[in-house]
Amino acid sequence: MPRPKKRRTVQHPPLFQSIKPRGIPVCGLPRIELTLDEYEAIRLADYEKREHLEASEMMNISRSTFTRLIETARHKVARMMIDGGELIIEGGEIDLAHNLLYCRKCGEKIIVKWDNNISECPECNSDDLYDCFGKPHRLNRAGHHTAGKQRRRHRGGRS
Ligand SMILES: [Zn+2]
Repeated sequence: MPRPKKRRTVQHPPLFQSIKPRGIPVCGLPRIELTLDEYEAIRLADYEKREHLEASEMMNISRSTFTRLIETARHKVARMMIDGGELIIEGGEIDLAHNLLYCRKCGEKIIVKWDNNISECPECNSDDLYDCFGKPHRLNRAGHHTAGKQRRRHRGGRS
C-alpha cells in the first residue's frame, strides 16, 4: 500500500483564484491549474526570496520535494506567460495556515488567523465580509471542500 501523502502547509491563501490575459474570453483559453502548494512554493522562494531549505521546512516537506514542486510550478507560470492561458489557483493536498476574508463593499482582502475575531473591514468598517476558506478549510485535489473541522464561526453568528 502506498504511504499516505503528507499534507503540505500553505501559510497564506492566494488573493486571486484566476489570472488571465487581458481581452480574451475565458472560454477561448486553455486552463492551467496551479495547485495551492505550487503557488506557495513560488510565493516563498520567488516572491519572498527565501532559501529553498527554509521554504521546504515552512511547507513541511523535504528540500528535494520542494525543488521538484517549484520546478513544476515555474513551468506552469512560464507556460501561462508564453502560450497564454487562464491560470487557476486551486486544489492540492494542503493545510491552510491562515484564512482569507474579502470585503464585499470595498474589495479589501484580509489575511487572518483561524481564530480571528474580525467582524469589520479595517478599511471601510463594513461588516459584509466574505469568509473565503473558513468553512470547511481543507481542500482536496480537485479543489472541492472536504468535511473539515469548522474553525470559524459563520458570518452572522455573532451577537
Ligand atoms: Zn471594506
